[in-house]
Amino acid sequence: MKQIREHLLALRKALHDHNYRYYVLDDPIISDYDFDQKLRELADLEKQYPEFFDPNSPTLRVGGTINKNFPTITHEFPMYSLDNAYSEQELFDWEKRIQKRLGTDTVAYTCELKFDGVSISLTYESGVLEQAVTRGDGTQGDEVTQNVRTIPTVPLQLRGDFTDRFAIRGEIVLPIDGFNKMNEERVALGEEPYRNPRNTASGTLKLQDSSLVAKRPLQCFLYQMIADRSLFTTQLESLQTARKLGFHVPEHYTLSSSIDEVMHFISHWEKERSNLPFEIDGIVIKVNDISQQDELGYTSKSPRWAIAYKFKAESTYAILESVQFQVGRTGAITPVAVLDPVVLGGTVVKRASLHNADQIEKLDLYYGDSVVIEKGGEIIPKITSVDRNKRSIQAKKVLYASHCPDCQTELIRIEGEADHYCPNHEGCPTQIVGRIQHFISRKAMNIYGLGSETIELLYQQRLIVSYADLYALTYDQLIPLERMADKSVQNILDAIEESKKVPFERLLFALGIRYVGQTVAKKLASYFGSIDALAKADVETLVEVDEIGSRIAESVVDFFASLTNIQIIDQLKMYGLQFESKLAEHQPISNTLSGQSFVISGVFSSHSRDEIKKLVEDHGGKISSSLSSKTTYLLAGENMGPKKQIKADELGISIIDEASFFSMISS
Ligand code: AMP
Ligand code: ZN
Repeated sequence: MKQIREHLLALRKALHDHNYRYYVLDDPIISDYDFDQKLRELADLEKQYPEFFDPNSPTLRVGGTINKNFPTITHEFPMYSLDNAYSEQELFDWEKRIQKRLGTDTVAYTCELKFDGVSISLTYESGVLEQAVTRGDGTQGDEVTQNVRTIPTVPLQLRGDFTDRFAIRGEIVLPIDGFNKMNEERVALGEEPYRNPRNTASGTLKLQDSSLVAKRPLQCFLYQMIADRSLFTTQLESLQTARKLGFHVPEHYTLSSSIDEVMHFISHWEKERSNLPFEIDGIVIKVNDISQQDELGYTSKSPRWAIAYKFKAESTYAILESVQFQVGRTGAITPVAVLDPVVLGGTVVKRASLHNADQIEKLDLYYGDSVVIEKGGEIIPKITSVDRNKRSIQAKKVLYASHCPDCQTELIRIEGEADHYCPNHEGCPTQIVGRIQHFISRKAMNIYGLGSETIELLYQQRLIVSYADLYALTYDQLIPLERMADKSVQNILDAIEESKKVPFERLLFALGIRYVGQTVAKKLASYFGSIDALAKADVETLVEVDEIGSRIAESVVDFFASLTNIQIIDQLKMYGLQFESKLAEHQPISNTLSGQSFVISGVFSSHSRDEIKKLVEDHGGKISSSLSSKTTYLLAGENMGPKKQIKADELGISIIDEASFFSMISS
């Protein structure tokens, strides 16, 4: 046992070291493959010997814990915001104020990139990551430790000397490449693309399932140590110290002895920022000397010793040629401005987003207008204003479409929603074709061989009007179509046949119910077990499922209220598709828990809730969602609600923790 423990600890240390070499030094000494092998070996050992659990093990980077809520934490040291400067003059004014307060003209500054992400405060206790908290209102933020743990550039274990307990501040960003890739996948699935990397990073930190966070390419840059002052005397030194401890410190910073030099750094990055792999929105200038910083102190909202120089958003004039109204597969209308092409921030821009009717109304747009377009964090630029002086008197006002550009049905707008919809779900060609295209897509039914264009063709020829019709297609119907040959037709028919085996959760996603993406489909499939049970569920039942809110619930109920949808599902059933979930069916490994009923509550450190549920069932136990006299145990993780505790006490149900549960099933 001792040997195993030592081996396990050595593996953990080696993996921490390799991580540091890879992410901080950018100098790996083993291949990705070897790294994965070691990681797998460690994961296997940890599974076999749960007694050696360590919340900072490199294996936990892959996530798996479920966070139902994020506790509010008061910052030990408030997270201030920064004063802004928009011009050189404002920087000179700031310098004058500083010099006056300090009574000296010799002040040096560090210049750092201002990352456009989410600020985070990390606390380490004896060199081990203990807590990660968002800025929130500066005084209190949300604890997101489990999710932050999955970010490879956040060290879980520090290297070398460190003070007992200290905090460090940084910014979590989503690099542009990773962001674009995520959006490509979303668009391929027919989902709305994310607007910008910053909001996406911020949303990611609040995901309940940390394994989803682990899959997103987040990075963390650290820039401010709140620690024992004996470690460093200047901001520059603190950055160097942080790097030695294993933190991912940005490489682009400089020390300047005057505002002139600061301006030099600013102009350089104002031009170069479009070449960075992530977004920055300015430069942060800090007084370098820590004792000078202390002397300057803070105002009620920001440090006097730092200032953020904000870049102007890149913008230019363009002529508005027309406005297109596009229909998506769910019927949502997106207005898009078509522009006379102009160059902005190094790329040619032909289109700009207009979001919705309110936006168009607010801008007071006319055709032919000279508009200002701006590239903020968003991928598609937006129109920020209109030059009315350049408008010709004959110009016509842009009116929002009243009817669907495709099927001419009158558009509707749901109370409280910003978007317009074409309500003709059953007859609008774009929606019908879009739904079938979604149905066959890779992550849905994966009917390869059938492309989007073939679907359009099949629809035009009226060979299919719903995705159920795919299953009735014959060789003789397909062979006369353009670009079809014996082999390709056979492949298509085989792929269609093969898709009958696709598991229920993917089929459910493929049906294209609004707001039911892959994750939601999986949740619904495993909770309800079959389409019949799901179709019967009302809104109240649906919202009881993890992560299902009323918006999704209502959309599911609407879907099953449509007679056409029911008929299509009946046809699909007839063709033999999988409308029952295999997620819940499995043979128990043992009967240790047979006859016992468990209610699971709270958050667990070593396993996700779903994994724990599976373990209970694997050992012959039953899971129920609410406490009753039939419940044998309440298995409590962290942050269990007080109500559950009281109820369990009333009913005299034993409450057990994670550790006792594991010893129960291991005996
Ligand atoms: P603002 O949110 O505009 O008040 O700007 C202040 C924020 O800039 C801070 O809360 C940090 O999250 C962020 N920031 C980004 N990069 C840096 C940096 N290098 N140093 C300090 N703050 C930074
Ligand atoms: Zn329509």
